[in-house]
Formats: sequence, C-alpha cells, structure tokens
Amino acid sequence: MVVGWHRPTKLVIDTQAIKENVRNEIKRMPKGTELFAVVKANGYGHGAVQTAKAAIAGGATGFCVAILDEAIELREAGITEPILILSVVDVSYIELLLTYDISVTAATQEWLEQATEQLNQLEIQAPLKVHIKVDTGMGRIGFTTPEAVKQAIATLKVEKKMEWEGLFTHFSTADEKDTRYFDKQSQRFDKVLSVLDDLPRYVHVSNSATAFWHPNNPGNMIRFGIGLYGLNPSGHALSAVYPLKPALSLVSQLIQVKELSAGEGIGYGNTYTTTAKEWIGTIPIGYADGWLRHLTGFSVLVDGEECEIVGRICMDQCMIRLPKKMTVGETVTLIGENHGKEITLQMVADKLETIHYEVACTFSERIPREYK
Ligand SMILES: *Cc1c(COP(=O)(O)O)cnc(C)c1O
Repeated sequence: MVVGWHRPTKLVIDTQAIKENVRNEIKRMPKGTELFAVVKANGYGHGAVQTAKAAIAGGATGFCVAILDEAIELREAGITEPILILSVVDVSYIELLLTYDISVTAATQEWLEQATEQLNQLEIQAPLKVHIKVDTGMGRIGFTTPEAVKQAIATLKVEKKMEWEGLFTHFSTADEKDTRYFDKQSQRFDKVLSVLDDLPRYVHVSNSATAFWHPNNPGNMIRFGIGLYGLNPSGHALSAVYPLKPALSLVSQLIQVKELSAGEGIGYGNTYTTTAKEWIGTIPIGYADGWLRHLTGFSVLVDGEECEIVGRICMDQCMIRLPKKMTVGETVTLIGENHGKEITLQMVADKLETIHYEVACTFSERIPREYK
C-alpha cells in the first residue's frame, strides 16, 4: 500500500497524550493491577508500534491485539512485554506463537484439543501461554458455563506443553447508563470464579468503559483500548471520569482557491450550486482516505473559520466553501484544534451516525502518520 508522503494531508498523533492517558488511568487503578494497552487494528488507526511505545512510557506492562500478524508486528519492532491475542488463532500457527512468545485465547474445548495435538508434534522450549475466555453474555467467543471452564482448565493443567496464564471475559454494555445487563454478566463471571480452586497469573474483565465506570470489578489487569487514544468509550452517554486527551488530529492544506459566480456547480452529480459569488477551496483528501462521502455538509476549520464541505466528496479530493479569499497552502484542520476552535472525532462520528472507534480505524494507510 502506498503512503502519501508527498501530499500535504496527514494524521498527526500526539504520543505525549497517549502516555498521559495511560498514566492517568494507572493512577486510579488499585495497586497491583496492570494495564495492557490494546493496539489492535493498527492502534485504532493511530499506529500500533508508536502507540505501544508511548503506552510503555506511560506505564503499560503488556499489550492486546486482535490477530497474530499484529502481535508479530510488535515483536518485530522490538517490543518484549507480554502480548495477548484476543481472538481465535488457528492451531496450525502454534509454532509462530511459540517463536514470538505470544499468549493466545482459548475459547472452546475443541481448540484446546487440537492445540494439544499440534503441540505434541513439536519440540518446544517453553509452554504455550493460554488465556481462557469466558462468554458471560457478549455472545462472541468463549466458554459459556462454569463446568466448561473447569474442564478447559483441567485440560490445561494436565497438558505440560500449555500454561494456564489467564482467565477473562468481556462486557457488552459497560458504556451504558443502564447497568442491568452489565450486572448479569458480572454475576456470571463471579459464578465462574466461585467454582475455581486457584487463579492464573492474569484475571481480566475490564475494557476502558469497565475500568472507567465499574472500577470495582475483579481482576489484576485491564485491557485499556479507546481510553489510550483519549476518547470516551460511551460517546455522549456517560461523562469521562477524568479529562481524556485526544491523540489524533487530521490536517491538510488548500491546494486551490477560486472565486465562482452564482449558479456554478461543484463536484460529481452537481449536487451543490453556488448561490452567490463564492470562494471555493479544494483539499486533497477523499473517501479513499476514509474521509467518507457522508461527510458532505460537515465543516472543517481554516484560519479559525468553519468551512462547509460542499458537493460530493471525491475519491481523492473534496471542496469547501470559504468565507473569504484564502491562500493556497493554508492549513485545513479536519480533526483537531485550529485557532482555538476544535473538531473532534466524536463530531465526525456523529455526522456519520457511527462511533469514533470506527472513524479512527477507517483512515486508510494512504494517509501518513506523523508522531510528535
Ligand atoms: C477491543 C477490545 C478491548 C478494548 O476495548 P476498548 O473499548 O477500546 O477499551 C478489550 N477487550 C476485548 C476483548 C476487545 O476486543
């Protein structure tokens, strides 16, 4: 994939903000609790390796990713902290997990049995580290009954080539005002804990929302994702428990500025027509960059002024209405601060009728990430 280094559009990532978000969270956590930074999907679009390094600087002691390749990327970048893959990895890749010392999630008894078979064919130096996933109501992956969890643990204990390193669950409504479903999941996990004789090194139930709004949950590690990036997991529903620092800005520049007379069309389909003499600016970002077509009508900031996106957003460019003549090369802020005004990822998400998580990881690889 090509990166547009020679175009003035870029994502600017404030690594100091990531570091501070981690630090602020660690300050609130009970002593002895570890923070694993969740850097899946290229660090929610922010860049996995740079985010991971900033998180370490803030005090993170491990990482979570979604897929094996993301774990390998961190190891290849020299990261030596524990890494857990949160979703299911096919047992045919067990040798890679061992080579890179990566912990894996077991979600079914079948997987454990297949993993045992694979491991028995390998000469290994150290056991495969396994976290047992309990499905308490997310309905995604995991063991669904205390008996099934007990059986899985028994398998891990007899199998010398595997080590029971963790036990975890995931909440589906930790970011909502209504806590009834959360409580139900929480009780189910407590039930599992109550039938176990001992616990592994890591017990973890908290994503960012659980850590923020349900801090008294069991466990000695949290999986801190969206909070790292300075975003409120609940959107507008619940207020942040401490100020979060957004790490991502998106900036570009005006590449052409022109004055049009009334009645001129802008963009494909001619969906916008100038109503008077208007200054129109063009910026080099489009839907191929993740700046999606639904953002027509949204505003960006130029010289502290809100400028509406007019006409359809093209694949590589879009047009904005300027309040006055402006110069080519002038900075355009699509997300972030500009002369005291701010556009947040949340505002973009609201316009797109989605969540900021999705917006952040929709930015394509074509946009270079600059770290400060
Ligand atoms: C993505 C993910 C997280 C992180 O969630 P945030 O809301 O970003 O904090 C934690 N746990 C699991 C299982 C996940 O898939």
